[in-house]
Amino acid sequence: MVVYTSAKCGHCGASWANLSPNAQLTSFDTIGPPIIRCMYCSKDNVTEWKLPRDLNPIQKLIHINAKQVLGIILSFGFMGIGYGAFSEIYDPKTDNIILTLIFSLPFVFVGIKGLWNNLNQKSDLKYLEDKFDKNGGFIWSYEVYS
Ligand SMILES: [Zn+2]
Repeated sequence: MVVYTSAKCGHCGASWANLSPNAQLTSFDTIGPPIIRCMYCSKDNVTEWKLPRDLNPIQKLIHINAKQVLGIILSFGFMGIGYGAFSEIYDPKTDNIILTLIFSLPFVFVGIKGLWNNLNQKSDLKYLEDKFDKNGGFIWSYEVYS
């Protein structure tokens, strides 16, 4: 078993390049596959990441719940800014509604996108655990890196 620090196999040295789109929402600072099997040499690399279920209650609170709640609050914040910008700036008598929308809608979209990502975080974490179990205790390098 070799612990690697970059996106590289500790056995054969093959680099695994970019994160796969499947893994884009997984939080890779603490949460991630603890064992990555290299798709080139089929050897296991131990990482410093943990599966969501292996976090202790405090880590869970910080890395899952707090992040999610913060993300949701932030998302509503963005939607609020968008709405606020619209209602503050727009004057039906003088203003061009299209211009006002161009300014305020991006904030609303960012908010909705953020909300969507945060509400789907649970299923992304589940995806990681399911893959890990289905494979028999590891994640293939191509499943997190492409
Ligand atoms: Zn390898």
